[in-house]
Amino acid sequence: MTGMIGTMLLAGCSQQGKQELEQDSFDYTVEQFADLQLLRYKVHGFEELPLEQKKLVYYLSEAALQGRDILFDQNGKYNLIIRKMLETVYTDYQGDRTDANFVNMETYLKRVWFSNGIHHHYAADKFVPGFTPEFLKKALESVDTKKLPLAEGETLDELCKEVFPVIFDAKLMAKRVNQADGEDLVLTSASNYYDGVTQEEAEDFYGKMKNPNDTMPVMFGMNSRLVKENGKVQEKVWKSGGLYGQAIDKIIYWLEKAKGVAENDAQKAVIEKMIQFYQDGDLKTFDEYAILWVKDLDSRVDFVNGFTESYGDPLGMKASWESIVNFKDLETTKRTELISANAQWFEDHSPVDKRFKKEEVKGVSAKVITAAIIAGDLYPATAIGINLPNSNWIRSVHGSKSVTIGNFTDAYNKAAHGNGFSDEFVYSEVEKGYLEKYGDLTGDLHTDLHECLGHGSGQLLPGVDPDALKAYGSTIEEARADLFGLYYLPDAKMRELGLTPHDDAYKAEYYSYMMNGLMTQLVRIELGNNVEEAHMRNRQLIAKWAFEKGAAEKVTELVKKDGKTFVKINDYEKLRALFGQLLNEIQRIKSEGDFEAARQMVENYAVKVDPELHQEVLARYEKLNLAPYKGFVNPVYTAKTDAEGNIIDVEISYGEGYAEQMLRYSKDYANLPYRNE
Ligand code: ZN
Repeated sequence: MTGMIGTMLLAGCSQQGKQELEQDSFDYTVEQFADLQLLRYKVHGFEELPLEQKKLVYYLSEAALQGRDILFDQNGKYNLIIRKMLETVYTDYQGDRTDANFVNMETYLKRVWFSNGIHHHYAADKFVPGFTPEFLKKALESVDTKKLPLAEGETLDELCKEVFPVIFDAKLMAKRVNQADGEDLVLTSASNYYDGVTQEEAEDFYGKMKNPNDTMPVMFGMNSRLVKENGKVQEKVWKSGGLYGQAIDKIIYWLEKAKGVAENDAQKAVIEKMIQFYQDGDLKTFDEYAILWVKDLDSRVDFVNGFTESYGDPLGMKASWESIVNFKDLETTKRTELISANAQWFEDHSPVDKRFKKEEVKGVSAKVITAAIIAGDLYPATAIGINLPNSNWIRSVHGSKSVTIGNFTDAYNKAAHGNGFSDEFVYSEVEKGYLEKYGDLTGDLHTDLHECLGHGSGQLLPGVDPDALKAYGSTIEEARADLFGLYYLPDAKMRELGLTPHDDAYKAEYYSYMMNGLMTQLVRIELGNNVEEAHMRNRQLIAKWAFEKGAAEKVTELVKKDGKTFVKINDYEKLRALFGQLLNEIQRIKSEGDFEAARQMVENYAVKVDPELHQEVLARYEKLNLAPYKGFVNPVYTAKTDAEGNIIDVEISYGEGYAEQMLRYSKDYANLPYRNE
């Protein structure tokens, strides 16, 4: 449940400061192809970690990379074979490398790397190759057969006969995960979680295991492939000595090293339990591990390594393998703690009716982490937050960890600078100046105020049903949290606390918020559709309401320049007053459970789209040629040793290219056979 919040993140919401950019020569962009863009992220603060923690990060990052082949095989039984065939052609082909067939094969291979298989990482559809079977056959014949993934005694002809339909026949294994109602979802999904088993057999098998009276159920089926052998349905468990054991043993090797430099006993116990689970494959052991992990809050370094995400299984049980290693971002966490510590002041001074305010309010301190490496189902496409464990009973009894990954958001923001988005959509140099100077900072601050204070503020009147607003509830709730942040961004208290650097800083967030809500977020919607998603509805609600209520005084205008529409804010202070007024009304609706008012607010302001403006925005966006999906290349960690082989430092470098990294991983972490039965 790490949630792919990051993959569709839109460029241009906040912009990088110009002066900062000049000092910061770090190159955040790597390359772009198909619908994908590869970025780099910076591991702020790694160099300053004490040596023992650097070693810990290093060992855990090796443990992360060792599992790469597991996910390729989970995503489809031919993925490792196809990857190896294409990589060999890519590195060894002596023919014309500018030929369209070769160029298209290169793009195909880059997409396979990105998706950890031959299906799109997000849409789950099989890629359509832009090269011919004849080309691939000839290319394969031209390279050293010893480098090809041939089975014992198999000829190249036989290999091609077996694998080519998987690549070239659009109907075969068409979807990695099929969710189409009425079909056998297990038989029609190409993911490798079931073999020779029907959906009914799988559901039967696990149905019998479940005991409705068990209040602490393990997550059945999570760490195995379900197969039918000799007429019997049975699990092949992923563990040391079992399926994927070769890769798991390598992971264990590095976890043992990490255990030796654990920061404290709690963390050591987490690592020990994880090793035990990789050894015994017992789901009870996994729950014990998850409980230890969720309670380890004091360690600076933290990590996930294991079978985690269930989106890839049409039945939602089997978990794909992934890993992330990270450490606490002390600077940013300080900022959210400062905001939380002043929660009562913010509550007392909000423009909301006294009856709807909390007498006593507690802020939530959002934990921000810095990612050091990502692997498996978090690589290269990743999430910008983690919320684990997945087990419902563990979450309710022992809690969960929820963190945001600061250096990923940062990299998305920085990479968006200079992509043409603000040149196309921002009204003038004045607004661009605000965005460049303050956009990143006030965007982050708005998020902090939203998360740390907004959701926790206010109270329901006695007897009001918390679900009274029904389907409109989540839009109203998001609007409430956003408005709380918008109202306070310009406040003198923010300067006093040292959170904002200048009285004008908030204008960056005001401008980008209004531009996004009135116009640019429409790029995520297909022409003819309404706004559906709750966060997008909330943003349009706020922007349109403030636009209309301020229309007579021209607080905000939509103006035309060279036939293009722009947002222009004429009076920022009045805009703040309008946000305060709307916060008061939204809080009233929530506190009183006024369903009818919520319905009107959402239906009147949040849902409908002006088709003419929509078409214009889409056309302008398309010309910018921005890739909708993004992913990251990892940094490289190198251990420096003394004459006795002791690690004396761990160095980090960022120069590695995308293909270079993928080929190195395929060589150094090729831990599984091509066929895993
Ligand atoms: Zn929220």
